[in-house]
Amino acid sequence: MRDLLEAERAETQALIDRLTQGIDEVSAAREGDNSDDEHDPEGATLAFERSQAATLLEQSENRLEEIAEAVDRLNAGTFGTCIDCGRPIAEARLEARPYAAKCVNCAARG
Ligand SMILES: [Zn+2]
Repeated sequence: MRDLLEAERAETQALIDRLTQGIDEVSAAREGDNSDDEHDPEGATLAFERSQAATLLEQSENRLEEIAEAVDRLNAGTFGTCIDCGRPIAEARLEARPYAAKCVNCAARG
């Protein structure tokens, strides 16, 4: 399970690196460009792409936090136990989402 989490972490980190780089590139492309976002179709597209990338980046950073917490639980010996109800999390769920902190029932409740 530790390997699974490490793989997931590496993948998420790579995604964050790509997104950060992408946002930097879009920002750099905007520099020295005095065109008005509102009236420049290309500017609007760039702004849209940048906000999409920013949203994805935020999600990935949250994911990274969830993974770090899962590693903590692994070290504490509580991994695989729902943080809400204390029941074991189904193995199939952990295989799909090794960073899952809650069982299906508690996750569904939010
Ligand atoms: Zn639960």
